[in-house]
Amino acid sequence: MSFNINFLKQIATKSTGDIDTEKNIDSVFIDSRNQVNNGLFIPIIGERFDGHEFLQGAIDNGAIATLWDESRPVPKGLNGDFPIFFVKDTLKALQQLASIYLQKVSPKVVGVTGSNGKTSTKDLLEAVLSKKFITHKTSGNYNNHIGLPLTILAMPINCEVAILEMGMNNFGEISFLSKLAKPDIAIITNIGESHIEQLGSRKGIAKAKLEIVDGLKTDGVLIIDGDEPLLHTARDLNTLKCGYNDGNEFKITNIEQAAEGTNFSINVNLHFSLPLLGKHNVKNATFALAVGKYLGLSEHTMQLGLDNCTLTGMRMEKKAGLNGSTIINDAYNSSPTSMRAAIETIKQLKGFSRRILVLGDMYELGKDERQLHESVAEVITAPITHLITIGEKGAWISEALMKKNKDKIEIKTYKTKDHAKGDLINLLTDGSVVLIKASRGMKLETLSTDICT
Ligand code: ATP
Ligand code: MG
Repeated sequence: MSFNINFLKQIATKSTGDIDTEKNIDSVFIDSRNQVNNGLFIPIIGERFDGHEFLQGAIDNGAIATLWDESRPVPKGLNGDFPIFFVKDTLKALQQLASIYLQKVSPKVVGVTGSNGKTSTKDLLEAVLSKKFITHKTSGNYNNHIGLPLTILAMPINCEVAILEMGMNNFGEISFLSKLAKPDIAIITNIGESHIEQLGSRKGIAKAKLEIVDGLKTDGVLIIDGDEPLLHTARDLNTLKCGYNDGNEFKITNIEQAAEGTNFSINVNLHFSLPLLGKHNVKNATFALAVGKYLGLSEHTMQLGLDNCTLTGMRMEKKAGLNGSTIINDAYNSSPTSMRAAIETIKQLKGFSRRILVLGDMYELGKDERQLHESVAEVITAPITHLITIGEKGAWISEALMKKNKDKIEIKTYKTKDHAKGDLINLLTDGSVVLIKASRGMKLETLSTDICT
């Protein structure tokens, strides 16, 4: 990004210091520990820290100007020449600055929300769209009221398509983000169970995700998981549905799970191959293809994009394990929906004689948490051969499977991942594939590291 320092006058109530109007701001940052060039520091007042206390560090690391809450005193000893732009509220100013910068660059905006698959879809969108456009996407999980404006402000000035992930914990948040980013294209990847504690029910979750239309441009398009009835709105919106069921405009068929990825067709006659595992990733890719088609990319170009795609780590990441085994590290996070989807993928992989699931606790599932864990057991059938669960809640999956274990799957439960490690390593052979999955808090990736070569 880059804008002239004078640009900041639009959001400031007053400024002090020596403002060199020849100077450009090349980055915006809120963490004084970041090293930047020609940076604007925005001190945010958080629950535990107040960014205003770290101005000197920010200057040492490359800030050439700062925003400043006008009710706070300026630190003593600061060089009076240092440019300070005073604002009423630094967080609001960050959001306002992002909004003005977005208007200036005016790319096509693709907003991505949903319970699962936002980051994966964002990565796939970039893989496809960057074949034709200058793109910019959310890095990591910068998807909230602070991350989204920072993502916008990191966009290059010549950006043509901005791909923005929008996350939430509660009602009103997606509405806010959507009104800030004003998407031309809004995607809702799926409705799962995450945050059900705060939102009451799956219907509540769908309502919260549908807030993404609040900021959608009037001529914009909404792209949804067409297999989810809760997303079929009565609203008069230009909508495209993607999914496996009849009635989807982008209907996925002929899925074939190959060793290195997945082949599939859309509407029978368009054939694609994806170097990723999992039916859910095929759906995520289909969202990207729908957007690509909407923005005029040819099928050939879109395939070239898919060929080069890589996902942010710990999402169905395939690795070489001990004793010639294969490890699928999906430890980034889990909900019952995404756990079931990952298990289905492991069942469909070709060429393994031993299929081991290592599943751990899932958090934030509210009062039905036990039943939601138990529901995962329904899909644990042959050709799965082993189930290892870790943690108190994970054990509910084992208990449910023990009750109707028709396929005689070997079941083991452990309190912690350290207890599980030894036995797991003993199971690994060159015909084995292991899925590792749980909520973020379980940090099962350390177990994955322990069993990888
Ligand atoms: P977060 O809310 O933590 O940012 P996210 O929505 O960005 O999550 P991803 O990081 O893309 O989601 O994927 C997280 C996990 O969700 C993946 O490891 C996978 O198991 C599962 N997943 C991805 N896409 C889908 C989908 N379309 N439907 C169901 N599950 C999915
Ligand atoms: Mg994400």
